[in-house]
Amino acid sequence: MVEGKVAIITGASSGIGKAIAGKFVKGGAYVLGVARSEEKLKAIKEELGENFDYEVADVSDHDRAKEIVERLVKEKGRIDILVNNAGTTEDTLLVRMDEEKWDKVIDTNLKGAFNYSRHAATHMMRQRSGVIINISSIVGIYGNAAQANYAASKAGLIGFTKSIAKELGKRGIRVVAVAPGFIETPMTENLPEKIKKAALDMTPLGRFGKPEEVANVVLFLSSDLASFITSTVVEVSGGLLI
Ligand code: NAP
Repeated sequence: MVEGKVAIITGASSGIGKAIAGKFVKGGAYVLGVARSEEKLKAIKEELGENFDYEVADVSDHDRAKEIVERLVKEKGRIDILVNNAGTTEDTLLVRMDEEKWDKVIDTNLKGAFNYSRHAATHMMRQRSGVIINISSIVGIYGNAAQANYAASKAGLIGFTKSIAKELGKRGIRVVAVAPGFIETPMTENLPEKIKKAALDMTPLGRFGKPEEVANVVLFLSSDLASFITSTVVEVSGGLLI
């Protein structure tokens, strides 16, 4: 489905991003993974081999994003797929949320996607082809107490997706948001049991999702099988409505 494609996946060192990288490389794509933990990225490189390389970077760094995209295009001649997956949480109630917690989540989840999309789109426009997938969340659609910063960043990603899909569609570039529900990754493993149980009770399929189940959808949306899908939000949530 992605044979011969050149992709950047942010947040490739863990959870959903790692699963997407694995599916892409297995499918014959070349993947450049971006994250901050060099050790984890190195271990993934050992597992996936020559079609996976990595850059250690914080996605909120605009200049690093430019440097990374340009280096990739120089080396591989193109960029076909960008998956803006890097994300973080700093959960707390609004009145306890200091500026630092707000900025960290917005800078990583929302500005990070802007940074990579902006630079990737420049090259995709020249190629007149490309796919940008933004990993949002059902929290960005329905909201969630104690996650105002996270919900704002993920809702922001949906507005961002729809806006740039309108700008870039005529150049052959598709932009799609994926909104996972509760997925078993390091991001969710330490949540209090009470919160996990509440999420489970609200999930019609009666279980949590696996990173691979999100990766399968991203693989499909990145491929030509999804050639008429753009500017939309695909929920991968087992039916969870918060
Ligand atoms: P995870 O296992 O914690 O992975 C998060 C990834 O983002 C890691 O690779 C992390 O790498 C990277 N990252 C975080 N901050 C970064 C930064 N400033 N710069 C670069 N990379 C950064 O969590 P996950 O569940 O797989 O989350 C992946 C995406 O899915 C996130 O956008 C998350 O919001 C979204 N999502 C998850 C769920 C869920 O239930 N798990 C539900 C809805 C949406 P380093 O720490 O190495 O930098």
